[in-house]
Amino acid sequence: MAELVPIIQLGNPILRQKAALVDNIQDEHIQKLIEDLITTVVQANGVGIAAPQLAQSYRLLIVASRPNPRYPNAPEMEPTAMINPKITAHSTEVVKGWEGCLSVPGIRGLVPRYQAIEVEYTDRNGKLQKQELTDFVARIFQHEYDHLDGIVFVDRLENTLEMITEQEYQQRVVNNI
Ligand code: ZN
Repeated sequence: MAELVPIIQLGNPILRQKAALVDNIQDEHIQKLIEDLITTVVQANGVGIAAPQLAQSYRLLIVASRPNPRYPNAPEMEPTAMINPKITAHSTEVVKGWEGCLSVPGIRGLVPRYQAIEVEYTDRNGKLQKQELTDFVARIFQHEYDHLDGIVFVDRLENTLEMITEQEYQQRVVNNI
């Protein structure tokens, strides 16, 4: 059974560690961690989560884009576990977009990310997958991938003036004021 595991918050040193490669995907612990991550990200209205956010320092992330109250315009997709992911190529174009993080509650920031990336990862069945991701889904991947290297989105802000509270974000950005 998947369980709802507490999400660790900014300040916890695990969020600043470089996560370890997963060497046995079929391991019960890893398969249960995938279930816990998916359950937790859906429950928290997130669009992605990385294993270190559940205090498990493994190179494993979930991309789970779907429209929800925190991201009303997100595209719909099945939650996908990506194990030992890599970015193999990226666009020269960088775009800024608003991000938040389940480990940094109450804060949003404008973060520059590659518009398109090519990625490789192993899926939860142990199969190597290659995909091109663009726009919002590429942004989710890059945000979660950073967690595997101990990087948090606030580290990537170009200017602290581009950091606002969740409440202001909801009023100004989502409602286009
Ligand atoms: Zn995050």
